[in-house]
Amino acid sequence: MTWQNWAGNQRTYPVRFVEARDAGEVSDAVKAAARDGLRVKALGSGHSFTGIAVAQDVALLVPSDPAAVRVDGPLVTVPAGLTLHRLNELLWERGLALPNLGDIDAQTVAGAISTGTHGTGATHQGIAAQVRALEIVLADGSVLACSPAEHPELFSAARVGLGALGILTSVTLQAVPAFRLHAVEKALPLEQVLAELDGLAAGNDHFEFYWFPHTEIAATKRNNRTEATGPTRGRVAEWVGDDLLGNGAFAMACRVGARMPRLVPGLNRLAARQFADAEYVDRSYRVFCSPRRVRFLETEYAVPREALPEALAGLRVAAQRHGQAVTFPVEVRVTAGDDIPLSTASGRDTAYVAVHVYKGQPHEAYFGAVESVMTALDGRPHWGKLHTRAADTLRDSYPGFDAFVALRDRLDPEGRFTNPYLDRVLGVPTA
Ligand SMILES: Cc1cc2nc3c(=O)[nH]c(=O)nc-3n(C[C@H](O)[C@H](O)[C@H](O)COP(=O)(O)OP(=O)(O)OC[C@H]3O[C@@H](n4cnc5c(N)ncnc54)[C@H](O)[C@@H]3O)c2cc1C
Repeated sequence: MTWQNWAGNQRTYPVRFVEARDAGEVSDAVKAAARDGLRVKALGSGHSFTGIAVAQDVALLVPSDPAAVRVDGPLVTVPAGLTLHRLNELLWERGLALPNLGDIDAQTVAGAISTGTHGTGATHQGIAAQVRALEIVLADGSVLACSPAEHPELFSAARVGLGALGILTSVTLQAVPAFRLHAVEKALPLEQVLAELDGLAAGNDHFEFYWFPHTEIAATKRNNRTEATGPTRGRVAEWVGDDLLGNGAFAMACRVGARMPRLVPGLNRLAARQFADAEYVDRSYRVFCSPRRVRFLETEYAVPREALPEALAGLRVAAQRHGQAVTFPVEVRVTAGDDIPLSTASGRDTAYVAVHVYKGQPHEAYFGAVESVMTALDGRPHWGKLHTRAADTLRDSYPGFDAFVALRDRLDPEGRFTNPYLDRVLGVPTA
């Protein structure tokens, strides 16, 4: 049977697929793989663009039964394979929510935290920062409960564990009381947004903007917590993150741009002009997340927050030089720093710059030029989005890198949970 990711750029033919319903079955699968000399990779929802989730030997489906969800005050313990989509609804029914989310909710909880999935908000952190406890199956098949009190070093590292430390079977997250968001969407001149960026980031709970290469327009999105209940989303015309990126007209523009790159600047100006200013109120998770129906490839870099102006200046030069076929907008977000060793926001307030191309379009030169700019600013690549960095250069960017690798080498000396991507970004385990 074939496995391929959402974007269709990673494909593999695992030796076998195993579905595990609980930690015991995960442990059995890991022990059986060890007996057969096979490696194991837990499958999330396949929404990483990198080869991080590629399972060449045993592709393991982890527990995901919503009936196993347990709520204890603001703490919610979920099976690792539950999707964020399902979790958001279950939390809402119980008067709870996650404080921040990324653009989509298709990921599994374990898959999302394992690569450091994040949203936006100057005082908010990525989803992994909400983790309070984990249950993990190690390479020897043992099942361990970890928290700040139990196996604290493993707990700390496994929140963004890249799937390298073991198989997560359940995750305990700290939720907050359910809340609604008031979304205000407005197209503004890019120069104005860049000049006012600090104020916009500090003055809104969740601020982000999209910039279409070849235009001077930034589509801004401000989401703030509110007690109000309306107007709801149904009346909204077009928004880059919802209707536009998901709709058929945009897909058509991408296809035309792919065949006739000289038309791209005009198509982008047309797309950017489509933004009707919009304002609505909805449940938090419905405002944070929306479907993405048009397929693309993506790279995303996390730079120190104060390096954002320089990062965007470099990006604009790169887009000018390499982005002839770039119909997709660039997304800019901010988050607060955290204390997770391999989180892209580890130890520093962070700005994220995400660059996309329509599926099937050449991306190497454009992404490579962006990567040079971001790397020079001590940028860290999103673990789930395309990049070419390897352990030798990533090491310098993360103070906790060597300790993470040493822990992995101790727990998994035979490389039971490795794959080619992990060998590249972490190095091969030293048995
Ligand atoms: C359309 C789209 C929009 C996106 N938007 C955002 C965004 O807004 N913000 C952002 O930060 N990222 C975003 N991403 C990236 C995405 O959130 C990450 O790549 C995420 O890791 C995908 O989760 P998944 O469940 O699909 O995991 P997969 O991609 O399937 O797996 C990711 C990693 O998690 C590991 N894993 C999965 N389950 C377990 C387990 N039980 N135990 C141990 N390891 C496990 C896998 O082995 C692999 O190493 C987006 C991706 C797409 C395609």
